[in-house]
Amino acid sequence: MKINQKLFTVIIFNLFSFITLFGQIIPDYKIVRGKNDTVTTPTHIIVGVAAPQSQIFVNEQSVKQYKTGSFGIELNLKEGANPVVIKIISGGKEYSDNFSVYYKIVTAQPKIEILQDYGKRVVVTKEGAYLNYGAGQDRLGGAKVNYIASGIRMELIDSVQSLYKVRLSENNYAFIPKYFVNIEPAGVKPPFTLTSSWSVSNAGKSDRIRISLESRQPYTMYRELEPNRLVVDIYGAACNSNWITQYLNLKAVDYVDFKQISPDVFRVLIYLKDEYSWGYKVDYVGNSLDITVKHTPLPAYSGKLKGMVIGVDAGHGGPKSAGAVSPAGFEEKAQNLAMAYMLKEQLEKKGATVILSRTDDSDVTLADRIKTFDNANVDMIVAIHCNAGGNPLKNGGTSTYYKHIEYRELAKSILEKLVLLDVNNFGLIGNFNFSLNAPTNYPSVLVETLFMSSLPDEEKITNPQFQKEMMTKVTEGLESYLKKVKASLKEKRD
Ligand SMILES: [Zn+2]
Repeated sequence: MKINQKLFTVIIFNLFSFITLFGQIIPDYKIVRGKNDTVTTPTHIIVGVAAPQSQIFVNEQSVKQYKTGSFGIELNLKEGANPVVIKIISGGKEYSDNFSVYYKIVTAQPKIEILQDYGKRVVVTKEGAYLNYGAGQDRLGGAKVNYIASGIRMELIDSVQSLYKVRLSENNYAFIPKYFVNIEPAGVKPPFTLTSSWSVSNAGKSDRIRISLESRQPYTMYRELEPNRLVVDIYGAACNSNWITQYLNLKAVDYVDFKQISPDVFRVLIYLKDEYSWGYKVDYVGNSLDITVKHTPLPAYSGKLKGMVIGVDAGHGGPKSAGAVSPAGFEEKAQNLAMAYMLKEQLEKKGATVILSRTDDSDVTLADRIKTFDNANVDMIVAIHCNAGGNPLKNGGTSTYYKHIEYRELAKSILEKLVLLDVNNFGLIGNFNFSLNAPTNYPSVLVETLFMSSLPDEEKITNPQFQKEMMTKVTEGLESYLKKVKASLKEKRD
């Protein structure tokens, strides 16, 4: 029965593919893959066969034909209808065929189960949401786990001031700001998913891991240095992945693996090639979890600043956010901005491109600063601030901060240069919960130059000459970091 059906399909298929626009019959021609499809991915492969020794063009582009007669091409589709014109020159005659491939961008259509007797309530995340470990709310906000995509449903467990406690899985929970969720109508149940096929591919400036799920599930992610890998836990998910398509032209990802660590937590392990990280991002495309891992940018191979795109953030700004104010009345925001321009000038002299998140005395939100850096596709960011606190009669000192362990070396490289100046070493501080250190999609460092509140520091940090010297040290620190990157890449190749 199956064979008959197949035969029938082949006959019908051949019948259609021999009829072309002008009624000509192209010798031995048939499209075996990619014709008349509505597709949901922007890259589309067309494979066909025609009489051997033909000349083949797809959309005016010459396509290689193999000795067997087969040919193939990958097209990048635009949203909507994409015309495909195939021209074949065979035996001195020109033939053509055309059809259209419709690319439909699929937005998430989560599987929502509504149960009349489901007594618990569910929240759904909005754009910009993030998870916190606890309900602590200090000056910088509670400790962040990571940002999380929109459209994710989780059971609501409790309400603590401005946060909801939400369930990630049977044994895991987190906190999420109320501002970033909506409460679903009664009866909506949090989804559970089976993982489906994966693909791992080179997407140009990053490698991409895509895991098909049936619904958007919450996730957490972190980087480990030894072994050198990314760990992404997907909650409310069980393994049903029977294959992983892994391409061989990957640049950042060495290989991927997974583990079902508990009945409802699926762990994705992404082993990395390069020692130094240039950022990664986890998001959803439809219901597929989309993990991108940035390639080492080409200029980094030279170990120099030339060609690098660097985001520089001058802390605070505007009438509401002056930052720390020194005993003599100097405002932090003005020192930060002056130093950001000095750093910009020095980095540009070295051939880097610099993107400022604030160019004047205006109030720029953290979200807008992050957006500016995202849009410019920066390779790394440096945030400039001044510190405050402690004994005003003593030297405060200089310090650098990172949040993610993979950027410790960056913060360390800059601190090592800064302390060569006549300043106190206030230290290298990790796991710091500063918002601009939170994004994982590029390396970041916070430089707390000196203390506004310390009298000896105040004298230095309000002096333009000393500010310039500090920014020279930041520049040297970045160069020293890039040299380490270059050495690690060389070591790997040798
Ligand atoms: Zn500050």
